[in-house]
Order: sequence, then C-alpha cells, then structure tokens
Amino acid sequence: MRAYQPYTEFQFNLWSFLLIAWALVGGIMYGLLLALVAMFIYLPIVFPLVLGGIAGKLLADYIKKRGLPNPTFALSCALLMGLTIYGTSQFFDYQSFKREMRGALEERFGEIEQTDFEEFTDYFLIENTGSPGYWGYLKLQAQEGIGIGRVARSSTFTLRGPGFWLYLLLDVGLLIGAAMVVVKLQTDNSFCPTCRSWYAAESIGYVTGALADSFMALLQQGSYKRAGTLITVDSTPRPYLRLAMSHCGCERGDSILKVTQVTGTTNGNESSKELTKGIISAQEENELLDATTEWEET
Ligand SMILES: [Zn+2]
Repeated sequence: MRAYQPYTEFQFNLWSFLLIAWALVGGIMYGLLLALVAMFIYLPIVFPLVLGGIAGKLLADYIKKRGLPNPTFALSCALLMGLTIYGTSQFFDYQSFKREMRGALEERFGEIEQTDFEEFTDYFLIENTGSPGYWGYLKLQAQEGIGIGRVARSSTFTLRGPGFWLYLLLDVGLLIGAAMVVVKLQTDNSFCPTCRSWYAAESIGYVTGALADSFMALLQQGSYKRAGTLITVDSTPRPYLRLAMSHCGCERGDSILKVTQVTGTTNGNESSKELTKGIISAQEENELLDATTEWEET
C-alpha cells in the first residue's frame, strides 16, 4: 500500500466565498430565530447544542456538495457562523432591554429624543456597572442575575456573578463546538482532487483476531492475493479487523483501504482504532477482493 496523504488544499473560488456568505447570512437568520424563541422559552445546553448541530449540518452539506476539503477553512466558517448566531441573538436581546427601558422612561417623562435616550442608557449602565453599551448590559445581567430554565418568564433559579459568566461561556462554547464537530465529521472524509469528489467508503469484510497479524504482514509485503484469502464477509466475534474500501468518482482510480481494529472493552463496549489507511491501485484491489470471492464460493 502507498501512504495516504489527505488532500486539503484550499482554493478561493465562488463556492468557498459562498460558504462564508452562508455562515454569515445563515448565522443572522438562526440568531434571530433563537432570539425570538428565547423570548418564550430557553433551554440552556439543549438549545445551543441543537442549534449548533443544525448550523454545522447546513455547512457540512454545502462542503460536501461543493467539494471544499480544507478543514481549517471549514472549521473557521463553523466558528464564524456560531459567533454570528450568538452575536445576533445577543444584539436582539440588548435591543429589547433598551426598548423596555425606553418604555419605562417615556411612561414617566413623556417622549424622549433618541440621542438623549442613548446618552441616558449609557449613563445608567456606567453608574451601575462602570461600562457603557452592550458590555455594560452584560455586566448588569451578571449583577442582577438571569433566570435559568426560563419558561414564559418564570425561572427555576437565578445565576449571578461568576456563575453568569461561566454560563455565558458554556452557552456560546456549546453552540460553536457543536457546529465545528459536525463540520469536522465531513472534512474527515477523503477528497479526490482529480474528480473533485469525496471518497465513499463501503465495508469489504473482516479478519478474525487470530489472523490479524498475518493479514497486516501480507498487506505490508503487497501480497494482496494471499491477504484476500484471510478476509471473511461475515462478522466475527471480537477482536477482529474491519476493512473498508473507499472509491472516488474516477474510473478505475486508486482506492483507499482502511483497516480498523475492533476490540471489546472490559465493560462489554466496543472500542475501535484505525490501524492503517493506504492507497491501493485498482489492480491490487481486484487481487484482494478476488480472493475473498473465491473463498466465499468454496
Ligand atoms: Zn477521483
């Protein structure tokens, strides 16, 4: 087998530009949605995770469709989208705070000029927290505390001080983290620069634990015919090797062979580890698989 080198080259083209645009536009859309829903109900941990997952899926599908294999670029877009979602919802939040404040002021003093109101808001925030604007608003929330598990504005408990900041960090971290994990699952796949398509993997069989070392040695030597005789198509008890072959869109192109070692853990769960991933030619693949078919027939 030849060593597998992942192709991750970044090309700045229309598709990569549109991915950035998607991250921003989609981020604003989801951020508004989050802010709207959060007016009525907000579930900490669950909402950021689900929304991050949905955002990541949107990006991953686009990355898959348009063939954008660079992981750094993809993850940056996920980060950008997560930040945009959170930023938009926070902006909306801050605006509703200002609207409420304006309502209360106008009730007492009558109509207020926009500039006077902005000045007063900043003065109020600086007086109470030491900072103007959004930052002051955040600090005000940390002082006064926010209700967690808020359902229709009644809350189960209130978070203040360091707890508030930790909560904020956790919320934004989960959202961005979920989006990045989903995107990474896509860019972890192999990409072929020739036909500009993703390799699709299919299982080609298993090797029982007792034959695993011999199989690996034969692969190393390039004896695909003999290695093939050790493959079974039926699953076997653990430990065993799981073999997957991936193809791209090229006709009679190279394939990627991935060997994963599957073992049982003491508590009965399955643990798997990638042993090797390499490139084999169409001819070598035939040798490997022909033997399996013969083995099946006898
Ligand atoms: Zn190809």
